[in-house]
Amino acid sequence: MSVKYIFVTGGVVSSLGKGIAASSIGALLEARGYKVALAKFDPYINVDPGTMSPFQHGEVYVTDDGAETDLDLGHYERFTSMTGSRTHNTTAGRIYLSVIERERRGDYLGKTVQVIPHITDEIKEAVRRVGEADVVLVEIGGTVGDIESLPFLEAIRQLRQEAGRGNAINVHLTLVPYIKASDELKTKPTQHSVKELLSIGIQPDVLLCRSERPLPPDVKRKIALFCNVPAEAVINAKDVPSIYEVPLQFAAEGLDEILLDLLHLPHYERNLEKWEALVNRIKNPAGDVDIAVVGKYVDYGDSYKSLNEALAHGGIANNVRVRLHYVDAESLENDSYPEVLSRADGILVPGGFGRRGVEGMMRAIQYAREKKVPFFGICLGLQTAVIEYARNVVGLEDANSTEFEEEPKHRVIYKLRDLIGVEALGGTMRLGKYPCDLAPGSFAARAYGESAISERHRHRYEVNQEYLPALRDAGMSFTGMSPDGKFVEIIELHNDHPWFLACQFHPELKSKPFACHPLFRDFIRAARAHGGAVREATETARADRHLESPA
Ligand code: GLN
Repeated sequence: MSVKYIFVTGGVVSSLGKGIAASSIGALLEARGYKVALAKFDPYINVDPGTMSPFQHGEVYVTDDGAETDLDLGHYERFTSMTGSRTHNTTAGRIYLSVIERERRGDYLGKTVQVIPHITDEIKEAVRRVGEADVVLVEIGGTVGDIESLPFLEAIRQLRQEAGRGNAINVHLTLVPYIKASDELKTKPTQHSVKELLSIGIQPDVLLCRSERPLPPDVKRKIALFCNVPAEAVINAKDVPSIYEVPLQFAAEGLDEILLDLLHLPHYERNLEKWEALVNRIKNPAGDVDIAVVGKYVDYGDSYKSLNEALAHGGIANNVRVRLHYVDAESLENDSYPEVLSRADGILVPGGFGRRGVEGMMRAIQYAREKKVPFFGICLGLQTAVIEYARNVVGLEDANSTEFEEEPKHRVIYKLRDLIGVEALGGTMRLGKYPCDLAPGSFAARAYGESAISERHRHRYEVNQEYLPALRDAGMSFTGMSPDGKFVEIIELHNDHPWFLACQFHPELKSKPFACHPLFRDFIRAARAHGGAVREATETARADRHLESPA
């Protein structure tokens, strides 16, 4: 069987959730027994999102093979069983770079190099490289009508033509806004967006219509009529409280049936039991857990996408709802501890780059350490935890990272380059998956239930081994090390602390709704126990006061 293609585009406005929609289609096809691969094609000129600010672009998602990719790849991996890699995310910048490199090498034999056919050919090549699967889903970033996305749309138009009917289809995601004043759902933006697609030769086969309110049959019929699709191919993607409900919602609208018909694929039995069980669990938690996330990029929701999901998975695994409270690390630098910290059942310090806010992070870590609140540090969270311990427990007042201070007296965190030389690494960042050995009996070993693990990295700085003896003598355990012993991967504190762990890698990138990452599972479990213990203590204290009061 030849590979089938589904091209997903978006119209009207950005942020409609194309990534979730594509992932949900992937999940539905897997639920029918098909192997899927998803890829994101981004029309911007950056070669990859590695250099973009988290405020601009949101999280940079790192794959096993060390590619810095769009955060939609995180959704693909969470919703389906595919493993993302370099080939699953391509940008206009990468396409142009490779065409220009070819041109310089003389590969085009004197021809004039043009958008059509050279850029579009390169895009088609990249689509064909996506990987082995029954169905390849290609999500085109941006919104139809953007100048930048034109070459990509032209390439998928050609691809469809070449693949032939029944082998490639177009799914278009649009918005059907509700206008309060007239109490109406408006179809015009969808009509315009489809017109835009038609003008470049693409007739969508399926429309996914995002809306706040359910689309009644007459509205669906109207969209079908004006957009030239059958009414059953107008799928309502009504807002739902959890992204994990989307596959079920699409299934209820009959989307998988339509896709299989259009792609001439057999309708194998649909098994969505695991999705139903998941949603059921999300909707019926047995309690709440409050987690304070003390980070640098707290004002932009997309900056910590995978982290938010992994924490939610921790809640699912422990049957609680996780309530997240973002605290701007900078705001902790001077004033007293904000109330949210004292109310938190667990404190997490996530990754980040640059000096801003790190002193605030250290104050939060000190708080968690001294007050015995479950603590989880990730990447920068590990580095700041080591500095805090060196300063406040070992007594090295001037301890710091060379990322925050050029020449600190005690450089407990320093650059990889100083450790083993850039040449040995092929770059200055440690990116992608690396192995790690765990110490028996540690929080980490207990969580993983294994002694050798592999996790994804994205950082330049490392713990300076010269300080390990002093830190160890003062009570810090190094429970995860690279097999060659060169890199500290996990630190823990045990002295009566319920759960204090930080890791140099990014475990949030490997957590799935059906298989919560073990560290997130155990962190939330510790937080739940801590919350329960605190509540019990407060209630006892309150009851005691009651008993003591003369009345
Ligand atoms: N800024 C730190 C480093 O480069 C931490 C990076 C991170 O948290 N991802 O090592």
